[in-house]
Amino acid sequence: MKYILTDVDNVLLDFSHQFEEWVIKKDIPIIKGQLQKTYTFESMFHTDQDYRKLIDEFYNCEYTMSTFKEYRECSKPINDLKNMGYTFVAITACDDKDHMTKSRAENIANLMGFSFEDVHVVGFNSSKEFALSQYGPSIWVEDTIEHAIKGAELGHRTFLIDHEYNKNKNGPFTRVNNWYDIKEILCDTER
Ligand SMILES: [Mg+2]
Repeated sequence: MKYILTDVDNVLLDFSHQFEEWVIKKDIPIIKGQLQKTYTFESMFHTDQDYRKLIDEFYNCEYTMSTFKEYRECSKPINDLKNMGYTFVAITACDDKDHMTKSRAENIANLMGFSFEDVHVVGFNSSKEFALSQYGPSIWVEDTIEHAIKGAELGHRTFLIDHEYNKNKNGPFTRVNNWYDIKEILCDTER
């Protein structure tokens, strides 16, 4: 089986925009665009804000967690890769509340048009090592440096989706703009 293991937020689903819009609707003042740039919650607020409480509220809401939009129109190249014979598995470091796995799996299936073989929900900011180690050498797609490096260390061919917040960092991964780049590279590999 050829596996593509992939992170979810800011790789498959557009977390940053949706979280920002949700906070704005709650009339909490923020520095717009900051979360996309830094991916650190504390940097997006003007004042001291209990952002962990906000994140909990966001993650506990079935609506917010099942209605993300796709990230950078990734569904097309992902479907092309599926048609090349890849099986998709998601590994996401968000809270593992009861409905979370189902919400994420359904959100992904709705956007991509097919169900992933598995969706591993490993806990907020937790290590992905255990889930990653359940698979033999595979493709691994991430935007967070630490998780990307961990996957590479475990023998996965790792792609890092380029973001402002992970720029200027090097590691045992191939930096790409989007899933179209990944598809192109994997097509070349198989040629
Ligand atoms: Mg991510």
